[in-house]
Amino acid sequence: MSHILVVTVSAMGHIQPIRGILRELVTRGHRVSCPVSEEFAALIASTGATPVAYEQVTTAMPATEGGSVDLATFVFGMNLAYAQRMLPQLEEMFDDDRPDIVVYEATAYAGYALALRWGLSAVVLSACRVSTVDDQRPTEWLPVMAQTPKAVETRARFAGWLAGQGIPLSVVDFLRRPSRCLVLIPRMLQPEPERFDPTVYTFVGPCIDGRPEPEPWPAPDRPLVLVSLGTAFTDSLDFFRTCITAFSGQGWLVVLSVGVRHIDPDDLGPLPPDIEVHRRVPQLSVLRHASLFVTHAGAGSSSEAVALGVPMIAVPQAIDQFDNAAMLAEAGVATVLGPGEATPDALRRAAHEVMASEKVAAACRDAAESVPRGGAATAVDAIESMIAGAPGNGR
Ligand code: UDP
Repeated sequence: MSHILVVTVSAMGHIQPIRGILRELVTRGHRVSCPVSEEFAALIASTGATPVAYEQVTTAMPATEGGSVDLATFVFGMNLAYAQRMLPQLEEMFDDDRPDIVVYEATAYAGYALALRWGLSAVVLSACRVSTVDDQRPTEWLPVMAQTPKAVETRARFAGWLAGQGIPLSVVDFLRRPSRCLVLIPRMLQPEPERFDPTVYTFVGPCIDGRPEPEPWPAPDRPLVLVSLGTAFTDSLDFFRTCITAFSGQGWLVVLSVGVRHIDPDDLGPLPPDIEVHRRVPQLSVLRHASLFVTHAGAGSSSEAVALGVPMIAVPQAIDQFDNAAMLAEAGVATVLGPGEATPDALRRAAHEVMASEKVAAACRDAAESVPRGGAATAVDAIESMIAGAPGNGR
């Protein structure tokens, strides 16, 4: 049994994808510590891992404004600020109870920094696409390469933080040269996956079969349409109003998840009987019954829908969502409506087309079949092989 420290950013989109792996680690008898903010402690505890309280001051997202470069840079800078605040807390919390290995979610930079400072093995879990060191694409949402003044300034701050911690790596090497990386998206959402060294990168897939099941959702008596913009970029009240206009009266049950941050369900006024509004739903449970998913094409949501074979209308809002949406469309599992295109008519038309299409249904079945099963077990095999003293671990 080993002591495994799992470091993640305290946000739904970062925690959901790693829960199957946490549970598998615990099932194999490891002691798993996971620092997390109070809001997500129960979600971590449900895997059997130990949530450890720490202070993460959550920063409000700015308005999405069509997913600008500056927004991507904002997120990058925000994750750097989290790391700067988290690293000293980790050092204090675990100095007397050092882990055997650090497993960190790709944006939880404090995890890797701690591993480097303490000379521990580190495995990164990437819940979205990965990039090589020299990967210039897609620069518009990756501030690691972008040349805007904000991106340059944020990288300089990042480099200063690394130097201040005695970590002799450039920002690009720190972010893009892992010793071991487990990628938690379906391969079809990774551009050119063959570029990645298979001894370093393993595409284990979304690991949804290993996750503790969320609470169940009742089977509907009509086709169910789930509408969600994820958990971060949920400020568009107009979008949810448009969906209500588009989908009401079509003979469907429409479930809207509007998020906990920006919109109060009451803002949507009195609702037609075929529309339900929630702040948050157990998304996997709802998707298992869904005939259509209207999604922002976040990496987590896209991966879950692909794994469960649910067709999509993708309405990307920000950062990687535009590229994810394009790849979903290329695979034939989604129709994309870009900024300004998601009118009631366009949404309704696309919904009818997607749900009636045999071609889309076949593409969804193929995509679901291509997702590896047992991903959590593969991931934990890889983690165990990296623990100091494990046979074959020469790193
Ligand atoms: N999610 C959920 N309930 C909701 C909305 C979202 O459980 O009502 C989960 C969803 O299953 C996914 C994550 O939150 O695992 C959202 O991640 P994604 O990468 O799609 O988007 P983000 O929230 O990071 O923009």
